[in-house]
Amino acid sequence: MDESGTLLRSAHCSTPREPDPEAVYAALTKAVAQVAPDDAQALGVGSAGPMTVGGETVSPLNIPGWRGFALLARLQEDYALPTVVDGDAKALAVGEGWKGAGAGVGSFLAMVVSTGVGGGLVVDGRLLDGASGNAGHVGHVVVVPGGALCGCGSHGCLEAEISGTAIGRRIGGPASGAGPDEVERAGRLLGEGLASVANLLDLSRVLVGGSVALGFGAPFFAAANAALHDLSRLDFTGGCEVRPVGLGPEGPLVGAGGLAWRLLGHDVGVH
Ligand SMILES: [Zn+2]
Repeated sequence: MDESGTLLRSAHCSTPREPDPEAVYAALTKAVAQVAPDDAQALGVGSAGPMTVGGETVSPLNIPGWRGFALLARLQEDYALPTVVDGDAKALAVGEGWKGAGAGVGSFLAMVVSTGVGGGLVVDGRLLDGASGNAGHVGHVVVVPGGALCGCGSHGCLEAEISGTAIGRRIGGPASGAGPDEVERAGRLLGEGLASVANLLDLSRVLVGGSVALGFGAPFFAAANAALHDLSRLDFTGGCEVRPVGLGPEGPLVGAGGLAWRLLGHDVGVH
């Protein structure tokens, strides 16, 4: 990706299922070899979490082969480039703030509702890290006290109630088969959770991507906005709006590039 945020080349590969951390890393470096120019200046990574501060070790829930994997050190060792590793949802927030629907919006949440529910926060133009680098885990805002068991160990989190996995469990089939009532319920629960988040952080926009949210489309966003407006009654959050992301599925990738350019001192609109 160049410094203007134009994606020059991309490659996809599937994640090896074997538990060997080196097999996963080898697949990654093979994909990098397909796209990296000889004069690459930096590496930016958006990884699923959880991770330790600065992405020093990553333990993506859906990649069992990596538990405490020292991704940052390995990349620095193998590529000898300035490297930044951050969460994929935080990368999404940077991408949307740089080139997407968050451009020029000082305080917003960018999030995904897909297999899981995750997010990243930009407040006053700054990407929030939090004490351990994991700020923005909106998927674990509780919206149904005593509700469904969540992967985090709690109950009734957004992720346990409206993720693709959760909806699939509720309807006994893929989330894409959800009927209007289920779409309405998911949208309302999202808006209810977001009301607290918007009030807490004085947000002016929430950008939502991910296959479940975008697949449900307009009725889902309408229900989310209705619930948000029903429940956030303070003047300053009255204008907060839930909208689809601007970059589609490429947001986290654009954001990973933005994190790399930011590391080199370029202005990507998010500090
Ligand atoms: Zn949870």
